[in-house]
Amino acid sequence: MLCCVNGPQIPFSFAPELQLFLPADRRRPGAPVTTDGVSTLGHVVESLGVPLTEVGRLLVDGSRVAPSHVPGPGESVEVEAVTRPQEVPGAPLRFLLDVHLGTLARRLRLLGVDAQYESEDIGDPALAALSAAEQRVMLSRDRGLLRRRELWAGAYVYSDRPDEQLRDVLGRFAPALAPWTRCTACNGLLQDADKEAVREHLEHGTRRTYDVFAQCLACGRVYWRGAHHEKLQTIVENAVREFGPAAA
Ligand SMILES: [Zn+2]
Repeated sequence: MLCCVNGPQIPFSFAPELQLFLPADRRRPGAPVTTDGVSTLGHVVESLGVPLTEVGRLLVDGSRVAPSHVPGPGESVEVEAVTRPQEVPGAPLRFLLDVHLGTLARRLRLLGVDAQYESEDIGDPALAALSAAEQRVMLSRDRGLLRRRELWAGAYVYSDRPDEQLRDVLGRFAPALAPWTRCTACNGLLQDADKEAVREHLEHGTRRTYDVFAQCLACGRVYWRGAHHEKLQTIVENAVREFGPAAA
């Protein structure tokens, strides 16, 4: 038997959605990958640059295997992308966003989706620990962060444009939408507020002009139908039209 320093050469085929993570010479379906004969499939896929958070079924010769499977000589591997909408065990669905995703965090909150956002860079270990402690799906464009084992769950955000990011997350996780119920500044819940009760927080012009008020239970910020309302209304309407609460 021929023995070798390198392990078996195994053909790998990746779903089109995963191609962007791969070096160009790995994208061809069935491109051979030399493994060491002891590494698990999960490890091999990750070492090629594909976050396991983005991987759906792993197939060896057409049959589903676990990420712990060690690919051997003569096998061929197919790597599928996560299915959408993606099931996340445990309820309710909550998110944690890294320092680069502030706009996405505010838009998710606008739609009533629980989206905690760290405006300071607290570091990958702290983010991963927070995801685990609060059972939050970590959203990030940082593949290194998404590889951390402590994460409760994670998802790569595919675009750097906030409107595409929002469609990506809403399409992938199908969270229940409840527009205008959450503070865009702090993620707290809003409650209706009486104009007199929030009078001290308002500018004189606002006091005269607007009558619909809500206040954040967490930070006390007051909301009314103000100058930016039309733009926000458009974001809400587009999201509800495409992903909105199913008719009861
Ligand atoms: Zn607040």
